[in-house]
Amino acid sequence: MKRNITIAGAGLVGSLCALYMSKRGFNVSVYERRNDLRAELITAGKSINLALSERGWSALKKVGADKDVKKIAIPMYKRIMHDSHGNLSEQAYGNPGQAIYSVSRAELNAIMMEMAEKNGVNIHCNQKCIDIDFEKTSATFEDTNTLRQKTVTSDLIIGADGAFSAVRSQMIKRKRHQFSQHYIEHAYKELLIPANEDGTHKLEKNALHIWPRGNFMLIALPNLDGSYTCTLFAPFEGKDSFKELCDRERIQTYFKKVFPDFTTLLPDLTEQFFTNPTSSLALMRTYPWHVNDKALLIGDAAHATAPFYGQGMNCGFEDCRVLDELLDKYENNFENCFKEFSKVRKPDSDGMQDLSMQNFIVMRDKTADPKFLIQKKVEQKFAQRYPDKWIPLYSIVSFTNISYADAWNIGMKQEKLMQTIMENPNITEIWDSDEIMEEMLRLI
Ligand SMILES: Cc1cc2nc3c(=O)[nH]c(=O)nc-3n(C[C@H](O)[C@H](O)[C@H](O)COP(=O)(O)OP(=O)(O)OC[C@H]3O[C@@H](n4cnc5c(N)ncnc54)[C@H](O)[C@@H]3O)c2cc1C
Repeated sequence: MKRNITIAGAGLVGSLCALYMSKRGFNVSVYERRNDLRAELITAGKSINLALSERGWSALKKVGADKDVKKIAIPMYKRIMHDSHGNLSEQAYGNPGQAIYSVSRAELNAIMMEMAEKNGVNIHCNQKCIDIDFEKTSATFEDTNTLRQKTVTSDLIIGADGAFSAVRSQMIKRKRHQFSQHYIEHAYKELLIPANEDGTHKLEKNALHIWPRGNFMLIALPNLDGSYTCTLFAPFEGKDSFKELCDRERIQTYFKKVFPDFTTLLPDLTEQFFTNPTSSLALMRTYPWHVNDKALLIGDAAHATAPFYGQGMNCGFEDCRVLDELLDKYENNFENCFKEFSKVRKPDSDGMQDLSMQNFIVMRDKTADPKFLIQKKVEQKFAQRYPDKWIPLYSIVSFTNISYADAWNIGMKQEKLMQTIMENPNITEIWDSDEIMEEMLRLI
């Protein structure tokens, strides 16, 4: 008999997971708290577009969703840095042709919901998970319109209900179940650069734009309609914080001084600043990710992170691919599969979270440092000359499926070696020389 799976959350990861599970031949029902986003565009103050990279693509490809997603994806081949005088510099993300992709969150989500439904998945919207009984493998949902409750019993409950997961909150009530949450000192606010009147982009389209300013930064990712979704990351309190930006005059003065070229692109900057929410960012960790063969966490429910490497969703998509592989390995034995899933994914998602926080410093601070840009050029050159000996950390994370835990370890070793190379007093003159390549070869 076909086994029944209940998934809480039809977000990015829940929808992809539903597609994976239905392709395995399970009966899948998904319960989503919100309205159907295909009926109205819901962003809930979250980022409107996201960067999709190799891990995400690999997971989409395995269930044949990559081709439809490609149609809505804009390749970004490089970062373009905007300094405080409006001067631009740039850094390729990888080898020629390698890119990360800007995609609309809502459209991506809609594509996967659509594919899941075509594959037999039942999606129930306006159904909020409010309770779980792990012994009975049952989940209780409340209709957000009528407040009527119903309890659904199945063979497995998957919690794909995001950073504030209701499934996880029931799991961590159990004995010795670990959980931690860490709010970082920075918050974010989204702003929109509109398209030109003819629908073209106001900035170079195939790039991720960054305004790095030390302790804070602004980024912009292109949308298909010619606009850019921009995100200001700044501290909640203190110097140059959201708290300081409390009236029109201060906002105008701040943006004109700190982001002069950006300010000219948004005629309604202050209105947007007041209208759009200021949102917090937190890292959540929990262990294990399962209860016997009854329940499993996936995506942000298991490993919500700060968005500085653009890997939260990519990691959640990778969860789906790895889960599928482990179900093959254990011939659909849930308990054995979930034990290994928790064990292998936890260090990887920890690595992903550590990488995210480390990349915040790179983006907001180091991309404005000419010496750092030279370091990256040296690494790129060495990687091109000796591809079997060196893959730059950014490329490992964004253009391979090497585990995040390994990526973190490799990255730390590479950084140590590069510090020795960068200590050379003449590095700015001789970075392009064979001498530096040989020195790296000797040190590696
Ligand atoms: C500013 C910002 C920028 C980001 N940029 C990137 C990026 O560039 N690249 C990247 O890979 N990641 C990025 N992320 C991370 C990415 O958004 C998340 O990792 C991703 O959305 C996780 O997907 P999910 O399905 O696990 O959770 P969610 O997207 O949060 O989806 C959870 C779903 O569950 C539903 N739900 C919640 N509670 C319940 C309940 N009780 N009952 C039923 N349903 C419920 C929600 O309504 C939602 O639909 C970014 C995040 C932020 C905040």
